[in-house]
Amino acid sequence: MPIDLHTHSSASDGTEAPALVVERAAEAGIDTIALTDHDTTMGWDEAAATARRLGVTLVRGIEVSCTRGWQSIHLLAYLPDDRHPDLVAELERARDSRDHRLDRMVEKMARDGIPVTVEAVRAEVEDGATVGRPHIADALVTSGVVGHRDEAFARWLGNDSPYYVPHYAPDPVRAVEIVRAAGGVPVIAHAWSGTRGRVVSDRVIREMADAGMAGIEVHHRDHDEDAVAHLGALARRLRLLATGSSDYHGEGKLNRLGEHTTDPDVLAAIEDLASGTEVVRP
Ligand code: AMP
Ligand code: ZN
Ligand code: FE
Ligand code: FE
Repeated sequence: MPIDLHTHSSASDGTEAPALVVERAAEAGIDTIALTDHDTTMGWDEAAATARRLGVTLVRGIEVSCTRGWQSIHLLAYLPDDRHPDLVAELERARDSRDHRLDRMVEKMARDGIPVTVEAVRAEVEDGATVGRPHIADALVTSGVVGHRDEAFARWLGNDSPYYVPHYAPDPVRAVEIVRAAGGVPVIAHAWSGTRGRVVSDRVIREMADAGMAGIEVHHRDHDEDAVAHLGALARRLRLLATGSSDYHGEGKLNRLGEHTTDPDVLAAIEDLASGTEVVRP
């Protein structure tokens, strides 16, 4: 009974509608998925309806963008109340800032002769969805400038690119507090996915744990053996849950549904800690 607790749909930068993500999970024999779009709960209802129909268990979640200094940190939030005012306000603020930031990145690129326009990028985004760099990549794929999102990231969209513009996001400690206040269960995503020493430090992870974070995503495509060993040991030391998941983005990334999974006991512990919204069981 595979459990995959980190997936994206077209409510943010996944390439498949929420219903289709759930359908793909059912086809792949995955019992339980969490839909965790960036900074939005827009896909929840559609995913829940399909989950009930297809006999998939759905954990409603969010991947909350956070920033500490220059570092971007992602926080998975499982089963929060999607009407909690502080959570709603914080997500809105981040999405708003993402909107402006997208325009600024595209303008910088266009000024340098890269053939991309704000209109072309907006055409890649579902109405109301959270925008991100992958949508700029999609516009470049559509117009034939590059063959795949990866290529656009490698050439122009990486964190070190001169075209990179940051967006507003809460400090991770505040994000943990807000998720907890909304009855959700915060778990840090892919903490060691950063390259060249840009991983999230143990100190910051400990601060987040002290603020009420419940777990660490240990098993993830971006984590090598060392990362898994380190984060696994850190989770044990801090008495945090250890999860594993795919970070599926449809066709937008190589990540396959269920390529990493979470233990049923860990999901049960997450459910015990949550008071914001229920797991959708068929
Ligand atoms: P943003 O949220 O706008 O800063 O963009 C970050 C998103 O881009 C993350 O969700 C990543 O999954 C995605 N991403 C990062 N690198 C790549 C890549 N090489 N190919 C495809 N997607 C990527
Ligand atoms: Zn993403
Ligand atoms: Fe992420
Ligand atoms: Fe993700």
